[in-house]
Amino acid sequence: MKNKKNARAAIRYLNIFVVILIIITAMLVIRGGRSVPPGETAPHTDETESDGNGREDTPTGETEDAGASEEPASAETGTAAPPPETTAPAEKTTAMPEKTTAKQKVNENIDELPVPVQITIDESNFSMTLVNRRFRIPDGYQVQLSPSIPGSDVRLDSRVAPHYTAMYNAAKEAGCYLTPYSGYRSYSVQKTNYENKVRYYRDLGNSESVSKTLAAQVIMPPGSSEHNLGLAMDICGTNYSFDQTKEFKWLQENAADYGFILRYPENKKDITKVVYEPWHWRYVGAENARAIKASGLCLEEYLGETA
Ligand SMILES: [Zn+2]
Repeated sequence: MKNKKNARAAIRYLNIFVVILIIITAMLVIRGGRSVPPGETAPHTDETESDGNGREDTPTGETEDAGASEEPASAETGTAAPPPETTAPAEKTTAMPEKTTAKQKVNENIDELPVPVQITIDESNFSMTLVNRRFRIPDGYQVQLSPSIPGSDVRLDSRVAPHYTAMYNAAKEAGCYLTPYSGYRSYSVQKTNYENKVRYYRDLGNSESVSKTLAAQVIMPPGSSEHNLGLAMDICGTNYSFDQTKEFKWLQENAADYGFILRYPENKKDITKVVYEPWHWRYVGAENARAIKASGLCLEEYLGETA
């Protein structure tokens, strides 16, 4: 009896031992199998990380100009590509903001920005003042600013603001909200915006003079912007689809009656040297606005200043 019991116990212990041995062997095999090509496991984890980073790129890509050069963090995504020179341009490409700029990454055949002539403002015909890349406001010119447009912190020239408010109210009656986005802008704010844009184009590999010309198509140099005079309003935010809104349609039909014109139309880019800006509405007075609209001319053409 005792022998049988001992034999059974021995078999049981042996079984347990074998099971433990199998488990240990199995664990070793699994571990060993993974650690054999160590180079492979590391990239796998990297890939999942970079997927996460890739998604983080999207919000930074939304920033307009400054974002393009202030994105070293996302370079970490490109750990697979060792030389930093190659990761940097790739990262800039993802940050490209708009269709227009994408086409103009490096541009050589582009005219040089003229040195603007300082104008004298005729106060009696103030609303027809022409500023653009050729003409700039006099140094130290003081704009007589309006109080903020109701419901915003946006201001215009005090002679222009009442017309904007009247237009705003009329549009509202028709269910359209002409949200004021940007009106008067100081010289120094304009200077910062413009210089940021120049840097953006320079960082894409353009020369200094080309960068200045390209920047001026999007943001006027300081002193050359209608915003510096409080004569223009950017309505409803600067995005490329404003011309698809009912607000834009309303403006096309009615803005002239309140003295505003679409200053940079799509079909006049060759003359204005500015990209199509459906949001930018310029005050010229109702009589002039109706005449300009009827003529189909842009302000430069209407004033005979197309050189
Ligand atoms: Zn504008």
